[in-house]
Amino acid sequence: MDQRFDVTERFAQGAQFIAGELRAGTSGRTQAVTDPATGEQVYTYELAGTADVDAAVGAARQALPEWAGATPGERSEALHRFAAVLDERTEEFAYAESLQCGKPIKLSREFDVPGSVDNAAFFAGAARHLEGKAAGEYSGDHTSSVRREPIGVVGSIAPWNYPLQMASWKVLPAIAAGNTIVLKPAEITPLTSVMYAQAAREAGIPDGVVNIVPGAGRDAGEHLVGHPDVAMTSFTGSTAVGKRVAEIATASVKRLHLELGGKAPFVVFDDADLDAAVHGAVAGALINTGQDCTAATRAYVQRPLYDAFVSGVADLMATVRLGDPFDPATDLGPLISHAQRDRVAGFVERARKYATVVTGGEAPQGALARGAYYRPTLIADAAQDSEIVQSEIFGPVLVVLPFDSDDEGITLANDTPYGLAASAWSRDVYRTGRAVREIKAGCVWVNDHIPIISEMPHGGYQASGYGKDMSAYSFEEYTQVKHVMYDITGVARKDWHRTVFGDRG
Ligand code: NAD
Repeated sequence: MDQRFDVTERFAQGAQFIAGELRAGTSGRTQAVTDPATGEQVYTYELAGTADVDAAVGAARQALPEWAGATPGERSEALHRFAAVLDERTEEFAYAESLQCGKPIKLSREFDVPGSVDNAAFFAGAARHLEGKAAGEYSGDHTSSVRREPIGVVGSIAPWNYPLQMASWKVLPAIAAGNTIVLKPAEITPLTSVMYAQAAREAGIPDGVVNIVPGAGRDAGEHLVGHPDVAMTSFTGSTAVGKRVAEIATASVKRLHLELGGKAPFVVFDDADLDAAVHGAVAGALINTGQDCTAATRAYVQRPLYDAFVSGVADLMATVRLGDPFDPATDLGPLISHAQRDRVAGFVERARKYATVVTGGEAPQGALARGAYYRPTLIADAAQDSEIVQSEIFGPVLVVLPFDSDDEGITLANDTPYGLAASAWSRDVYRTGRAVREIKAGCVWVNDHIPIISEMPHGGYQASGYGKDMSAYSFEEYTQVKHVMYDITGVARKDWHRTVFGDRG
């Protein structure tokens, strides 16, 4: 079952995967991969420099004609094999993901890895369903049809919170649609993205179709975004970096896909199933130690349920087991790094001045003290315009606020710049129907919060970005539409020519 391996041995040649092989980066700078549960370095590698990005883009460019020219059936078959290889490697991927991120092994095994296998299986099928509009004689004199074509070399940039799933979300729709890709994972979590590309190669996906360049954002990242041979940028990360990426991509008129931050509201109406809402809020807030762009971060609870909700959530949070990520009984792992833990603690310390920390608000002592752990935290009595309510914290912190009328609940839910995800809790179909209509977010769950599925789109509104990951909608991002118009009259002197020269014949 358990398939641990020696990371240093496995990646002895380096962590850049270019044109089907592993090699060392040439930036002259090294980067440590640290186990956040212990603070120990598990691997050190040379970061990608601009020359490595150039080599990866060159490999992707070279691989493009053959891959784009393959039939949908051929690409589909390769992706089916890819899904099978990933499935065989579940334990290795789960190990590496938990090691570099500190994720509880049960989360890696039951969410990250199977989700990525399922994504591959979905896109294997979807590759054969790239559709344009039906052909037709719209002008009367021509047959019009639509071709959906790959865009070219895609340059993608991913964050550290779900490295394997982010690799899946970026790579699969791009290559299913016939593009080739260069992915820059977050430099602190390169392992599973590189393993992902190795698995693609093992499945027979040609060298150069998937390239991985772990490097720093400022040099490798910006170089990839601005690269003249990259036709599209797909970025997932913070809104602040997304704005910078947008500036660079816009300067070279690239297709741009941005999946940015979130601050998901969790709206509980007074007829909701309280037990369901309490359990949903704790799970939704603590998934991946709260480092999830769709995590429940702001609970708005209608006044009659407010006190019971606060005590229910606090009690349940106190039962959550922090521990060694590789212990199957561990519920909550550390944050990604000590720096991120300190950042989260900073938000909570500042909030103490204007709000109440109901539970948590501290790092555990004892055996866990050397890891980047932080206790599940519930904050009450904060004002709607306070930092803890408005800013993305990206940690195991939930803030709870009361509301009176349904109008007020929905208004408060919409009152941040973000719009990635939200949930509404009620037994009344009309109330949830209204919330679904009026909440501005790319996903609204009803009586649940977090589940994602390969068939349905994931993406934001407003400052959470634009474009969709997963689902057939992602083909809108990774293809370009060409209108083809065939004259069907065979007439040399067309009637419309008179608008340019001559008179009606
Ligand atoms: P980040 O924005 O700091 O970094 C994301 C990626 O961008 C990393 O690979 C980083 O190296 C790179 N980068 C940094 N500066 C860059 C630059 N100047 N040019 C090009 N690339 C650069 O985000 P993070 O801290 O890694 O991840 C957390 C953020 O990601 C949160 O805001 C979270 O909400 C967001 N996120 C969003 C989604 C979504 O689907 N909307 C999913 C996961 C994470």
